[in-house]
Amino acid sequence: MKTEILKLLQSSTESVSGQEICNRFSVSRTAVWKVINQLKEEGYCIEAVQNKGYRIISAPDILTEAEIASRLKTDWAGSTLSCKEETDSTNTDCKKLAEQGALHGLLCTADTQIAGRGRRGRTWESPKGTSISMTLLLRPEIKPDQAPQLTLVMALAIARAVSRLCSETCSIKWPNDILLNNKKICGILTEMSAEMDYVHYVVIGCGINVNQDFVPMELEQIATSIKMETGTRNQRSELIAEILQDFEQLYQQFLSSGDLSSFVEEYDNYLVNRGRVVRVLDPKGEFEGEALGISPNGELFVKTAAGETVKVYAGEVSVRGIYGYV
Ligand code: ATP
Repeated sequence: MKTEILKLLQSSTESVSGQEICNRFSVSRTAVWKVINQLKEEGYCIEAVQNKGYRIISAPDILTEAEIASRLKTDWAGSTLSCKEETDSTNTDCKKLAEQGALHGLLCTADTQIAGRGRRGRTWESPKGTSISMTLLLRPEIKPDQAPQLTLVMALAIARAVSRLCSETCSIKWPNDILLNNKKICGILTEMSAEMDYVHYVVIGCGINVNQDFVPMELEQIATSIKMETGTRNQRSELIAEILQDFEQLYQQFLSSGDLSSFVEEYDNYLVNRGRVVRVLDPKGEFEGEALGISPNGELFVKTAAGETVKVYAGEVSVRGIYGYV
């Protein structure tokens, strides 16, 4: 009921009377009063005016189930939520719940991760109170080799949502980094449980630098936050809601066509390395070439100096600019 009351208050600019809340949710005045008090304790600033009712003046930047649920506009993404103050890794939490039978659309979040992971076991910094650590559970009917494409679907959803919310155009460093002004604000880690030809589940983890005022010294050259680039704080729950809404739409397109063909062009428009020479850090052998764009299956087309166009598969590969990170 807390979520419903919060949703109602957050969606109306006018005061909502206590009686209206009682009627709408068939609860007593005392029950409403208790919820309002709980919300105030959590940091919501709620104005209560006699004969008029309650109005939210401001919401705290917290990641609770009620706060996130009250912002969501999705059909299934985030339909169940598991929100923690602190955890090792939201991907680990989500995988555990998936093993226990959690449904498609579960979203795990944490205010901070103490063992956040990137690709190939690298660490991911998720500072308390300012970043987003979230993992979405999917149970798609796709072949295991299609699963890496979901990283690109999420990358595009985040690029779209951040660009819209912050009025600042992001870029994507193929396959899984979102950048603002050429520095990383987000990384994505997709993991899967599958058999040869059957996917049990996929989890897509996203670490997003939202309201940090600084990044650790060792990351200064490559990382930044949305606030550091735009000067503006963003409500993390609102950003989550926007991302999930875009993801749902893109995911539907992905399922319909079975690949990324319906948004290759849009992805390519965000691609930071497009038309530039990149260094492909392939464990089987590094090489340089011009990044041309992605294939419908999410591989990167790279044109080598010899004039040959090769397809680079995401898996183990990183791409760098020849003079630095991009
Ligand atoms: P590459 O650029 O090599 O493709 P990647 O996208 O595979 O990198 P990830 O595995 O997504 O990288 O992220 C891990 C790396 O990101 C770490 O090694 C570190 O350099 C950097 N990193 C860690 N925490 C953050 C953060 N909060 N913001 C930005 N970058 C971070």
